[in-house]
Amino acid sequence: MSESNSVASASAAAPSPADEGAALHMHFIRELIAADNASGKYGGKVVTRFPPEPNGYLHIGHAKAICLDFGMALENDGACHLRMDDTNPAREDVEYTNAIKEDVRWLGFDWGEHFHYASDYFDKMYELACQLIREGKAYVCALSPEEWKTHRGVPTAPGIPSPYRDTPPEVNLDLFQRMRAGEFADGERVLRAKIDMASPNLHMRDPVIYRILHTPHPHTGDKWCIYPMYDFAHPIEDALEGVTHSLCTLEFEVHRPLYDWVIENCRLFPSQQREFARLSLTYTVMSKRKLLELVQRKLVRGWDDPRMPTLCGLRRRGVPPEAIRDFCETVGITKYDSLTDVALLEHAVRDRLNATARRAMAVLDPLPVHITNPEALPAAATGPVNPEDPAAGERSIPLAPTLLIEREDFSEVPPPKYFRLSPGKAVRIRYAGFLTCEGVDHAPDGTVSALRCRFDPMDAGLKVKATIHWLPADAPTATVRLYDRLFNVPEPDADKDVDFTTHLNPDSLKTVTAHVESSLLDTKPGDHWQFERLGYFATDPDSTPTAPVFNRTVTLKDLWKK
Ligand code: ATP
Ligand code: MG
Repeated sequence: MSESNSVASASAAAPSPADEGAALHMHFIRELIAADNASGKYGGKVVTRFPPEPNGYLHIGHAKAICLDFGMALENDGACHLRMDDTNPAREDVEYTNAIKEDVRWLGFDWGEHFHYASDYFDKMYELACQLIREGKAYVCALSPEEWKTHRGVPTAPGIPSPYRDTPPEVNLDLFQRMRAGEFADGERVLRAKIDMASPNLHMRDPVIYRILHTPHPHTGDKWCIYPMYDFAHPIEDALEGVTHSLCTLEFEVHRPLYDWVIENCRLFPSQQREFARLSLTYTVMSKRKLLELVQRKLVRGWDDPRMPTLCGLRRRGVPPEAIRDFCETVGITKYDSLTDVALLEHAVRDRLNATARRAMAVLDPLPVHITNPEALPAAATGPVNPEDPAAGERSIPLAPTLLIEREDFSEVPPPKYFRLSPGKAVRIRYAGFLTCEGVDHAPDGTVSALRCRFDPMDAGLKVKATIHWLPADAPTATVRLYDRLFNVPEPDADKDVDFTTHLNPDSLKTVTAHVESSLLDTKPGDHWQFERLGYFATDPDSTPTAPVFNRTVTLKDLWKK
């Protein structure tokens, strides 16, 4: 499954991986960093972070964030930290943490020394909360969540202050320590920041910064029964790590005043948050909850099912990491949410694989062709391993008195403009010569069972309009998994009232036993192939030397284009 791909270190001066492929575009994050570097705001330092919550596998949307976070660090000779956002004790799993590390490395990035857990900072966060309390900037509140909601009100009118808002600091400090000591049940008390109950931004109306949760944490065990809220924790994590540019998706824009409030009032390193549009792709879903549902309901084979938009799924499908980086660079960074056509990703994949994939022939739906003049057959034909890479050399494909062609490359009653094989007509067979159809055999049910064809060598120079692929009848067999898009509508989760799984494409996986060129037996999982005329394929981890398995990564052309 592993991919040979150079891992650039974020802490060393290395070119952005995107430099190898797509052209770099100016965008507002690049502009902001350039301006900060010019003004000397952070002394020319750039530190970013990628902060996934370890509660699921990474998907192509995360890849956009990863390419931006690590990319900006690489371009500016800075560092990018990988930080597990584990402030929520209930949901974390080492399986996810390990998978996240593997996927980030596979994409081509390295966090160096900077692997962190948000929970590493719980002591410091508690200390800062106590400091805010002592300065009269936070208070312990006993309103129920429902009461609090009505107190907070609506943006158009000021909210009602909590009756606990003016509790003296010493009392608050004592209450907060008792919260920590476990004296209260979940939800009985919270710690709120004392900000502005009249702010038009509801996030600034005395937001909760600590809550009680009698749940052990995977890293801190039973040490805590109070946990910091994301909006309080995240700026502290960033500041403690010296993060200069904390890049996140647009929904956090309204939280930014609170981020800045925490930085200012806790007197921390001036990390700054900036927001960019998340990636949404057609014909798929991206929310972790929905991806988990697909896995749990066994609608796919697992997180790494090649139809999933997860990075492990894309890897298994045969998508090279370079193509994902090219794609992310092409999509660009904007401030407006939009829907990206998955065809753009497929285009990036073809671009990369065209240059690197070894060529071979496979026949997915064989129709036998008996050669009527077998004495004219040469022993073998030769073709390039990769026409884009002459150094890759040549391959030899033996001919035999019975050949196999693709059933759809023959038409007994050809429609207009059908240039492939039909009775009395000729076609070129790749690297070998020509077939002219002299006879058609039928099965009892009337379907075509075999053809009888005359063979002519290449130098016969027959005038034909099409070239088809072929194999000798004794070519080895392999399992080929033909993947298509997982959903049959562009936005499967657009309508909240319709179960998105009703839009699953019933034909998203077809498994066939195909005949393959013998060069295809010399393969290991992760190898990329172009099956001539059929598409790009990758050797699956299920593959063995005697029973190879190939996944279709992408067809050669966009079959969905209208
Ligand atoms: P979900 O809402 O599906 O659970 P999430 O955003 O909570 O996803 P996290 O693990 O918190 O997932 O995400 C880590 C980082 O990846 C965050 O900084 C987040 O902004 C970014 N990210 C997540 N999804 C996308 C996306 N579709 N496009 C770009 N960035 C994304
Ligand atoms: Mg999140």
